Amino acid sequence: MICRDLITKLAAENALSRREWVFLWSNYSPEDRAYAASAAGRIAEKIFGRNVFIRGIVEFSNFCKNDCFYCGIRRSNSQVVRYNLSDEIILECCQSGWENGICTFVLQSGEAAEFDLERMCALVRKIKAQFAGCAVTLSLGELSFEEYAALRNAGADRYLLRHESADPVHYRKLHPVSMKLENRLQCLEHLHQLGFQTGCGVMLGSPFQSAESLAEDMVFMQEFKPEMIGVGPFIPHRDTPFGKFASGTLDSTLFMISLCRLMHPQVLLPATTALGTLQANGRVLGISSGANVIMPNLTPRAVQENYNLYDNKKHTDRAIGEAVSLLQQELSCINYSLKAGRGDFGG
Ligand code: SAH
Repeated sequence: MICRDLITKLAAENALSRREWVFLWSNYSPEDRAYAASAAGRIAEKIFGRNVFIRGIVEFSNFCKNDCFYCGIRRSNSQVVRYNLSDEIILECCQSGWENGICTFVLQSGEAAEFDLERMCALVRKIKAQFAGCAVTLSLGELSFEEYAALRNAGADRYLLRHESADPVHYRKLHPVSMKLENRLQCLEHLHQLGFQTGCGVMLGSPFQSAESLAEDMVFMQEFKPEMIGVGPFIPHRDTPFGKFASGTLDSTLFMISLCRLMHPQVLLPATTALGTLQANGRVLGISSGANVIMPNLTPRAVQENYNLYDNKKHTDRAIGEAVSLLQQELSCINYSLKAGRGDFGG
């Protein structure tokens, strides 16, 4: 068995066995990574052309009742100044994106101790009414079926909930016992049942991750068939229990992006901010490895530093218009362009 053959098989059949995944994650070389990246790039180009969808992310609140060991806005981090943006400000953020051709708004937050469902539903309605034809993606963590259903009824289109690790032993090392992998996977099932375009995903190089745990992730994603996959490198945050661990590597993250593209050719796959934090051109490399989405930050500059999930998170000092044209410039260097529109799965 050699890695290159497994990558070819993955491209042809969109699946590998658990044993094959373990082999691939244990033995891939830089040449295998390049081979996967070019195969993934070709598939993405065939399906999407040399186009990249654009989403504006608003990190609207950092209140969180959870204590994930990796995350800078975990409950126990008392250094964080907590904030919760008003609807008015959130709508202004969306407006600035809308004026620059952004038609998908991603609302992300920590998990508030008391989740205000009414407010969230009303906010989704307001955004959908004010920006006719836009898509709303939510990333609010684990909620009940009823809460997800209400948000779906309010008009939310997509939901991002990284599963973080499909290996129960590894999951346990990343989270306190109060957080259950079972519950997270149940949430993902519920989101699918409700008709959300659903995103799962992992951090590459999170502490204690192994070829076996990555194989579990691949098998899970193979079966779950997400419409979106969020992958980025783990990057330590100094005020967390994982503050002294090393970051995940650019290469392993790019390899994961390529494998996800080969596994689910149609999937919406962002080149994440964390990738851009690791290396200045990280997001562009993500695109040439098979990603097809970029998510510029619409969060007001004044609160961005309070949403530091990890150290040195990139902040946007420029106005969104400028950030978008810079992005366009970067992409044109590899002959890609930003594509207007909602950019739905299968659309
Ligand atoms: N509360 C929401 C949003 C979490 S933040 C939820 O639970 O889904 C979004 C993602 O950031 C997380 O899913 C996690 O994978 C990633 N993240 C958190 N800390 C990180 C770190 N130190 N390095 C890289 N990514 C991190």
